[in-house]
Amino acid sequence: MNDYNACLDTAIDRLHEEGRYRTFIDIERRRGQFPHAEWKRPDGTVQDVTVWCGNDYLGMGQHPVVLEAMHEAIDATGAGSGGTRNISGTTVYHKRLEAELADLHGKEAALLFTSAYIANDATLSTLPKLFPGLIIISDELNHASMIEGIRHGNCEKHIFRHNDLAHLRAILSGLPADAPKVIAFESIYSMDGDFGPIEAICDLADEFNALTYIDEVHAVGMYGPRGAGVAERDGLMDRIDIFNGTLGKAYGVMGGYIAASAKMVDAIRSYAPGFIFTTSLPPAVAAGAAASIRFLKENQDLRDEHQAQAAALKLRLKGLGLPIIDHGSHIVPVHVGNPMKCKMISDQLLENHGIYVQPINFPTVPRGTERLRFTPSPVHGPSEIDELVNAMDGLWSHCALNRADMAG
Ligand SMILES: *Cc1c(COP(=O)(O)O)cnc(C)c1O
Repeated sequence: MNDYNACLDTAIDRLHEEGRYRTFIDIERRRGQFPHAEWKRPDGTVQDVTVWCGNDYLGMGQHPVVLEAMHEAIDATGAGSGGTRNISGTTVYHKRLEAELADLHGKEAALLFTSAYIANDATLSTLPKLFPGLIIISDELNHASMIEGIRHGNCEKHIFRHNDLAHLRAILSGLPADAPKVIAFESIYSMDGDFGPIEAICDLADEFNALTYIDEVHAVGMYGPRGAGVAERDGLMDRIDIFNGTLGKAYGVMGGYIAASAKMVDAIRSYAPGFIFTTSLPPAVAAGAAASIRFLKENQDLRDEHQAQAAALKLRLKGLGLPIIDHGSHIVPVHVGNPMKCKMISDQLLENHGIYVQPINFPTVPRGTERLRFTPSPVHGPSEIDELVNAMDGLWSHCALNRADMAG
């Protein structure tokens, strides 16, 4: 007889022993008061907290333009879409959103998925069906959704060291010249906040006749004059074959997509099970996302404020001598380098200061590089920043963590 419960206990105990068991903090954001939220403590009491680790980077999740579009769509059309895209689930809202996305990235077409995770998984696992003998070359720090997609695609794959162009070139040089190839990478890697070398990778793709697949999840809405991402900022959009993005982070709603040529989108649409066999997004979600994209195409102010907030927070924390990982993006990782202390600082920030930042430990990041990862936004005001900086100052001393030489 199998003891199924004992197996489950073993699996969960393994995580406890490795200090990797995840606990979720129960919070409820308050519309109009972001970044404030209510934390429902395990004992049932409620405490006001400031969220410092959200991915709603620009506060669009409470923006009146987005909410209005969602309310309107719900009142007009009801709750769910009522079907898969193929069978009664394609609405004018989905079509409008896809047109908005294609225009955003300067591509002929776009294709919606229920999340960017699914978009990565479904697209990357489908490409080998379209290009027989496909070889995927993937950055080692690519997001789990890309790794899973590549795995599910069951084709030949090669991993290049993170952002290492020489290694990428060496791999490409060793592959058959006539084999179809895709280079898969990200524009911003969210744990360090560093940028992928987009132009140099596109140059290599040209040289070796490969397609380029870029995940701009942590850049869309936030970079480029219309918020299309880092490729737009750097004038490289036409050199990317397939864009992947999310509607759940800077756009503040939910959903994911790819943008590419009409032919590419038609083929993925026709062959990807992760697109075909699932209920399409609720029309109200599509309406909210489209409103958010449209708004951010025309509002550079919010992007400027966002960058200014990130720069200000980095400056303040650096001023205390805290080891900030700074690659010039909007993400503010503070290196702790010890899983216990990382968790302890996070616990105390929450308990004693009402500051919510999730500790980032192994396996999300390598052991010894445990960190706190702050995501400042235009809705974090001066008082919230002051509170965070003061709390970090105190806890850093309390935990006897090193500071940089202040004169250095
Ligand atoms: C969050 C994330 C995704 C998944 O996006 P969702 O829309 O939340 O599924 C994909 N890629 C990267 C790099 C991410 O950080």
